Order: sequence, then C-alpha cells, then structure tokens
Amino acid sequence: MPTSSLPESERLPAAGADALSALADPTLADRVASARLPTRHGEFMSHVYRSRLDGVEHVALTLGDLEGQEGVLVRLHSECLTGDIFGSLRCDCGEQLELALHRIQDEGRGVLLYLRGQEGRGIGITHKIRAYALQDQGLDTVQANEAQGLPVDARSYEAAAFILRDLGLCSVRLMSNNPRKIAALEAAGLPVLQREAHEIAANAENRRYLVTKRQKLGHLLELPRRTGD
Ligand SMILES: [Zn+2]
Repeated sequence: MPTSSLPESERLPAAGADALSALADPTLADRVASARLPTRHGEFMSHVYRSRLDGVEHVALTLGDLEGQEGVLVRLHSECLTGDIFGSLRCDCGEQLELALHRIQDEGRGVLLYLRGQEGRGIGITHKIRAYALQDQGLDTVQANEAQGLPVDARSYEAAAFILRDLGLCSVRLMSNNPRKIAALEAAGLPVLQREAHEIAANAENRRYLVTKRQKLGHLLELPRRTGD
C-alpha cells in the first residue's frame, strides 16, 4: 500500500523531482574563472564556465560591452583538436576559429564561445580519428559516424545559450553555416537576428567533407574554389 495520499495518476514519477528543481534553478553552467587574455588576434577577456549538465569546462572569449546588448557578433566553436591545434586540412575548423577572432576584433565587440567536448560533432577524438580512417576507405563524414554506430551529430547547445545570456547578451548575430546551431539557440530562448556567413575556401583535402556537410547536414556553403586547387 503506497504511503502517498495522492492517487497513482497524480503522483510525480521519480524523475519529476529533478525536473522541478531544474525549473526552480535554471542555472546550466557556473562562471568559475575570468582573466584578460592577450592573443595574436588582439586582447580578449576569457571566462571559463563549468557546465552543470556534464561538468565540461567551456571558454568564452569576449570583447567589448555585452550587457543588455542586441545583435552581438557570436561564434559557437566546437572544439577540434586536429583542426584548431595541428592545422589539419581535413576540416575548416582552425581557419574558422581565426576568422571569428578577427571579425570580433574588427567589430570591437563579440563573443567566441569555445565548446569543449564537441570533438568530431560530439563523438570524441578516438571516434573522430577512426572516422578519418573510414573516410580514407571511401566513406563520407556522415557514413563514417554511422558505421561506428554513433550519432551523425551528438552536440547540444543548451549550455551555450545559457552562457551567452549570462554574459548579458539579449540577441545575437551568429557566425555560422549550420542551421542547427541557429535553431538550437532560438529554441533555448536566445534570438538570432541574423546569420553571418562564415565560410573558408575549401582545399583538396576537405572539399568532399564540406560537400557532404552541404548535401547531408544542410550547411549553407557556397564552396568557392581556392586558386591553385
Ligand atoms: Zn575540425
């Protein structure tokens, strides 16, 4: 005999209590460190946010006054060890990262949010390198994830939207070719006033990857040819 006086149909399921506490405190990430960060691309403020969803530490590089601002220039950059650090030509991440920092400096205001734990569209470095090996056998970037029994895109942007709001942004202009990122921010309650195309000229190594992103993942890419390719 249950001790609750509520009929079965009105009692919360076990997970209901967690859902209610999440509603009462919608904090998805905590700002845990901040400091000035001079870079080759100019000076930024750096803010580390630790996500309460998964413990991952994301980094926001910010420039200018953001509090209460509309249409702030923003890049959501998914961590890419091979592209960002090693200069891999298999993707366009490293060049997109540098371009975003330059554009924010030119504008004098903006946010680059470096989303860690999003390597290989969220599958991690091991599976990403395995996916590269599969691509060298002829699979495309989508098939290579599927062949490993992994999602084509495992990323979510709830923490990102929370961090941008915590930085004071009321709406953004998003540097992105990915409609999913725009939809995710809008769904999380952060209006995207405008998409800012953010395309790097393809090279011989990443052309097929970018074509697949356009054809299968709906990325808004023009794919101009780089002189010399
Ligand atoms: Zn990359």
